[in-house]
Amino acid sequence: ETPEIGSRTRTLAILNEYHLSAKKSLGQNFLDDLNVLHGIVEAAEITDADDVIEIGPGIGALTEQIAKRAHQVVAFEIDDNLLPVLDETLFQYNNVTILHEDFLNANLPEVIADNFDGQHALKIVANLPYYITKPILMSILKGNVPYTNLVFMMQREVADRLCAKPDTHDYGSLSVINQYLDDVEIAIEVSHTSFIPAPKVDSAVVKLVPKKSRKFVAYDQKAFFGFVHGCFMHRRKTLWNNLQGVFGKKPEVKEQVELILEQLNIKKTVRPQELEVDQFVKMANAFHEQGL
Ligand code: SAM
Repeated sequence: ETPEIGSRTRTLAILNEYHLSAKKSLGQNFLDDLNVLHGIVEAAEITDADDVIEIGPGIGALTEQIAKRAHQVVAFEIDDNLLPVLDETLFQYNNVTILHEDFLNANLPEVIADNFDGQHALKIVANLPYYITKPILMSILKGNVPYTNLVFMMQREVADRLCAKPDTHDYGSLSVINQYLDDVEIAIEVSHTSFIPAPKVDSAVVKLVPKKSRKFVAYDQKAFFGFVHGCFMHRRKTLWNNLQGVFGKKPEVKEQVELILEQLNIKKTVRPQELEVDQFVKMANAFHEQGL
């Protein structure tokens, strides 16, 4: 029997057969650690009740693990050189569709409607290309994609920012937006030696699950995300300073903002990274109510 794609011997054989060298510019670090590959699909709890979108299948190591368990898999791969490779490595899995497309340009609702039957849960799984971790996360988080979970390998530093709590160095707009939407946990810590070639930094597999309920709900989610970004524009300045960047410096507006902060019991001198997620929601809603 052929060894799994993600075994070290098979990965090296495939790279060799196709004369592939990993493209740094496309964030290519191939996983060749079966424990980690199995751990990713276990964290995502993939079963035949799921349809799965994968970002960047590479030579198919993770795709194979997903395909063995899922109903349908759609994988976005930007690199043309990998298409013939995937044709061969995933030959036996008839539930996989490879789309030769930049994930960041994808029209996800259309891809979902075209490829999935709507009868299965949607999960998104990836060993992300690290040069675009943040844009990929943001496009999914802001895109209203109806996922039941996201399981992503990413650089440890970004994983820490997603999970960060107030008053820490890593806490920022990414933490607030992510924790507003999802429950987040680090599922696996991954050493750089689990990849070919080994990246410079350590990695982590992060699992995001949409929150079932929220104490405070943003009236206008898109505006809320913009507001959070605005509050963190200058981390070292006070919230008050940042709010002037968001709402301008007109005296009558400043007065309104000041009043709202007072009502919410939020000090003008606080720094954005000291505030809880709920406090950002309450502020955004109060400003929204006042037509700001
Ligand atoms: N899934 C494979 C694995 O785990 O071994 C490969 C992961 S590698 C870190 C990232 C993959 O994403 C590469 O195959 C790369 O070509 C692909 N990629 C990079 N930028 C992309 C983009 N904008 N859209 C889709 N795929 C992309």
